[in-house]
Amino acid sequence: MSNEIYECDVPLEDYTEGIVATKEEIAEMCKRLGERISNDYKGEPLILICVLKGGFMFMSDLSKNISIPVEMDFIAVSSYGASTKSSGVVRLVKDTDTPVTGKHVLIVEDIIDTGLTLSYLKNLFSTRNPLSVKVCTAFDKPDRRKVEVDVEYSGIVIPDEYVVGYGLDYNGLFRNLPDLRILKKSVYVK
Ligand code: 5GP
Repeated sequence: MSNEIYECDVPLEDYTEGIVATKEEIAEMCKRLGERISNDYKGEPLILICVLKGGFMFMSDLSKNISIPVEMDFIAVSSYGASTKSSGVVRLVKDTDTPVTGKHVLIVEDIIDTGLTLSYLKNLFSTRNPLSVKVCTAFDKPDRRKVEVDVEYSGIVIPDEYVVGYGLDYNGLFRNLPDLRILKKSVYVK
């Protein structure tokens, strides 16, 4: 087995305890944010930048709720590795290839924890002559913030727990759970 925490015959849900956000709450959140974004950027050039890998599911659902024309691109950063704690050092793994000059940039993120990733990304895109740089996150853990970062579109505020599902992983797994769940500590505390 390539991933040592995974056993084939155990359902994914059994590694988790407590649902933090249900499928229905997430769908409602995507609709609410999509409508706001459609109104706020009406008539303006907008590019959505999805932060991989965790943001892929949110980008997909959010964009389907946006009714104005938007470009999309993808960026990948890493600050965790196989850990539940941010290393504090953000590394650019894959850059975008669509120019953002003269466009409004909206960074689409899965979750904000310390704020280090978003502060890095906001600074990065600000150097590329956009009309504006704003942030849209599905989930927010405000209690864990290390740096202040303005979050213009915030989906669901969650407690300080390590969560998985809806795009978020632990050690590469659990991204395909359709809701957001707390990962059992026994999975990562040995
Ligand atoms: P920050 O830089 O704000 O500390 O962390 C942002 C990134 O850390 C997120 O994009 C996400 O990939 C990861 N992250 C933060 N909290 C969690 C969590 O509770 N669960 C998972 N799976 N990833 C998290």
